[in-house]
Amino acid sequence: MNTRYFTEEHHLFRTSLQDFLKREVVPHIEKWEKTGTIERFIWKKFGDMGFLGLPYPEAYGGLNLDLFYTVILLEELQKINSGGFAAAIWAHVYLAMTHVNKEGSHEIKQNYLSPSIAGEKIGYLCITEPFGGSDVSGMRTTAEKKGDTYIINGSKTFITNGVYSDYMVVAAKTAPELGNKGISIFIMDSNTQGVSATKLDKLGWRASDTGEIAFDNVVIPASHLMGEKNKGFGYIMQHFALERLIMGINAHARAEYALEYALGYMKERHAFGKSLDKFQALRHTIANHYTQMEICKEFNYSVAERLNKGEYVVKEATMSKLQSTKMADEVIYDCLQLLGGYGYMEEYPLARLLRDSRLGPIGGGTSEILREIIAKIIIDKKEYRPATE
Ligand SMILES: Cc1cc2nc3c(=O)[nH]c(=O)nc-3n(C[C@H](O)[C@H](O)[C@H](O)COP(=O)(O)OP(=O)(O)OC[C@H]3O[C@@H](n4cnc5c(N)ncnc54)[C@H](O)[C@@H]3O)c2cc1C
Repeated sequence: MNTRYFTEEHHLFRTSLQDFLKREVVPHIEKWEKTGTIERFIWKKFGDMGFLGLPYPEAYGGLNLDLFYTVILLEELQKINSGGFAAAIWAHVYLAMTHVNKEGSHEIKQNYLSPSIAGEKIGYLCITEPFGGSDVSGMRTTAEKKGDTYIINGSKTFITNGVYSDYMVVAAKTAPELGNKGISIFIMDSNTQGVSATKLDKLGWRASDTGEIAFDNVVIPASHLMGEKNKGFGYIMQHFALERLIMGINAHARAEYALEYALGYMKERHAFGKSLDKFQALRHTIANHYTQMEICKEFNYSVAERLNKGEYVVKEATMSKLQSTKMADEVIYDCLQLLGGYGYMEEYPLARLLRDSRLGPIGGGTSEILREIIAKIIIDKKEYRPATE
């Protein structure tokens, strides 16, 4: 146990979480990967255990725990090897619910945050649009105020949990002429009239439902605006720090899982009269990748510690995702190679791991966009400030 960041309580939490995942989730993973549907009962079980409310206020049913409990949840979800299942959980808890917690009114929190923590309502975050995801300010979905309502028109795509879940946090233009200064954030139920969702087929994350969502004159109460009107871009950018760190943590955890699996395999598999873990070339591959993985892990923990203290770690969280997802793809590619033909077979975990990992440098900001942000901070001395406390 790394005692710099983890206490005995963290360790106990990790052990009980591992037991829970092994007992309640692992037996269902193959089925969910095949059907692309996660059965609803598991959400309630997660809710009953408190796993969906780790960082959230006790007033709404959360546990108000430090960020290292979240780190443990993320790491252990990666190690049961369904990137899709893991994504469904963390997109609900850390993408949708972060906005509800930070920008939602007391009434919205009662109606959405509490049931989300209990596993009774599942949420998703809708930012990306078919016309472009990297350029968030270029979004075309609009929200027009009419009396006590907003009318939403437009579409979103690649939305995790977007087909089978209950509510969405959605970004739309309330003042299109103002570019990124005219974006607002709303909450709405998935079954609101005029909302339709189409399920997308994809390379990996196969257990997770990814949806394209269309809004055709969708009427929602004006009270479903979250936070201040036209401040949505700031909220989105602020919460990207957490999302990007999460994706960095996920990456170091799946790389560690791949390395441990490959090492176990190398001990058992023999060629030319000795086990694979005795071949110097392969030992050096493991040594190099373990080093890179440990460096990313240590960096990610240090960023999590600073975020937990309330520091605004935009640069570091961006670097975490950029480097850790690159490292994970390289590690997993080579670990699959270490298994030879078995690495290519669905019966062995590396095939799915390789597919699922490929989303790392794309979702939540592509690596190209992350380099742009880092370059702006380092070269142009651009400063980013949080939009909320
Ligand atoms: C499985 C999956 C789940 C997802 N879940 C969600 C979700 O829950 N909610 C959500 O809102 N979104 C989600 N996304 C969307 C994801 O965040 C976007 O796909 C991503 O931000 C990239 O946007 P895009 O696909 O439109 O690519 P584009 O923006 O069209 O980019 C295409 C290519 O051009 C490059 N590019 C673009 N601009 C620049 C530039 N200025 N400089 C250099 N290169 C550039 C990009 O890096 C990329 O390689 C998900 C995506 C996937 C695949």
